[in-house]
Amino acid sequence: METYDVIVLGGSAAGLTAAITARRFNPDKKILVIRKEEKVLIPCGIPYIYGTVGSTDKNLIPDAVLEKNNIDLMIGNVEKIDRSGKTVLTDKNSMVGYDKLIISTGSDPMIPPIAGSDKDNVFTVKKDDKYLTELLEKVDESRNMVIIGGGFIGMEFADECKKNRDIDITVVEMLPHCLMLVFDEEFCKQGEDLIMERGVKVLTGEKVEEITGNSKVEGIKLSSGKKIEADLVLIGIGASSNSKVAIDSGIEVNEKGSIVVDKYMGTNDENIFACGDCCEKFSFFTKKPVNLMLASIATNEARIAGANLYKINRTNEGVIGAYSTVIGDTALARAGMSEREAQDNGYDIVVGMAEGPSCHPGCMPGGSNLKVNLVFEKGSGIILGGQLIGAKSGGELINLISGCICKRMTADDIATFQMGTHPALTASPIAYQISNAAEMAVKQLG
Ligand SMILES: Cc1cc2nc3c(=O)[nH]c(=O)nc-3n(C[C@H](O)[C@H](O)[C@H](O)COP(=O)(O)OP(=O)(O)OC[C@H]3O[C@@H](n4cnc5c(N)ncnc54)[C@H](O)[C@@H]3O)c2cc1C
Repeated sequence: METYDVIVLGGSAAGLTAAITARRFNPDKKILVIRKEEKVLIPCGIPYIYGTVGSTDKNLIPDAVLEKNNIDLMIGNVEKIDRSGKTVLTDKNSMVGYDKLIISTGSDPMIPPIAGSDKDNVFTVKKDDKYLTELLEKVDESRNMVIIGGGFIGMEFADECKKNRDIDITVVEMLPHCLMLVFDEEFCKQGEDLIMERGVKVLTGEKVEEITGNSKVEGIKLSSGKKIEADLVLIGIGASSNSKVAIDSGIEVNEKGSIVVDKYMGTNDENIFACGDCCEKFSFFTKKPVNLMLASIATNEARIAGANLYKINRTNEGVIGAYSTVIGDTALARAGMSEREAQDNGYDIVVGMAEGPSCHPGCMPGGSNLKVNLVFEKGSGIILGGQLIGAKSGGELINLISGCICKRMTADDIATFQMGTHPALTASPIAYQISNAAEMAVKQLG
């Protein structure tokens, strides 16, 4: 039996990043990644297979990065972790020994208890290239597609599937608005308008009660009694941790089945770490458990787990939650808490808003409007969150806002921070949105 110093289970966002980080901190260790699939999809790129990118093969994480970092790869489904013997066993009967193990087995899509979910032409978003290639064929054949779930995934799929196709698409969301788990109402409404302008129908406040048809889907029945014809249904309502192999070996999990980790990403076994969608997250603000699964969080945790295997080097401060998406050419993004979430958590808040062109003058090529909202705690003036809508540069600006949150900057710090600007690249220094939004808050904070 071959033995490695470090074995990483999973080869996606978390697994790959954990293995590379482990290599950086341990140049002389023998490291192995074991993953189920031959080809690993870029998980966040999946919706773009159906429009912009065009095939699963163009949306893959290259394996070259493993070779470059002198990390071995084994393809196999790990079915057993023997913690006392410090070995793992795959479905192909390969047994390998480890000194330190990192579990990054990710998540699987949630399937709601809706009657008819098992009919033909009902799909979820599995991170599996063959399954998603079959879905691509079905989307190409479809005339009436229903997407259950108006979160990021549902909206991105709707936008992409509509591209260059003569297809009717309806997004059904049970909450009063799409994107409501992330944004405040004003931003949700703008997101809905954007997707409807692209020809997608949106039904909110509607629960799917049944997927109808014989063996193949023919429609859906809603709680209001309304019926919609459909030849293809895609369910995008979230994901749950894939932690079976950890549970079977006695690794502690929470009530949702996510692996319990400490702030060093360690589990209840001192030689086993975990990171990514398979493990529990807690809020940066409240330190309470939160239900967020993002590749950006997974890689952040992986950079902590991979660094801490032999000596504690890094600490997890909790999840800020920085999201971004794009509908058509308009970016929508959020970091930290929305106004609603901050208030629900008992914060007394002040909100500063600024809006203006993303280039200067606004007629510069590629420039468009960008609106930024920043939420601050009354009293301390510390930033709690930010939301933006508009120019695609917002995708990077939200990361800057996340950095401000991480460093607990105040409205005054942000209003006076030193930015770099350029007519073709950024907003004007006079109208720089985050400085001005902070300035608006400073005025209210007194
Ligand atoms: C459609 C879609 C769009 C998304 N868009 C974004 C986005 O824009 N931004 C963002 O931050 N996040 C996005 N996410 C979320 C992001 O994809 C996940 O948070 C991310 O994939 C988590 O990475 P992970 O490595 O923890 O898990 P996964 O990506 O689920 O990977 C798990 C890995 O473990 C392997 N594995 C599992 N069990 C075993 C086993 N027993 N033995 C061996 N190997 C095993 C799998 O094969 C896989 O390699 C999106 C998700 C989806 C579905």
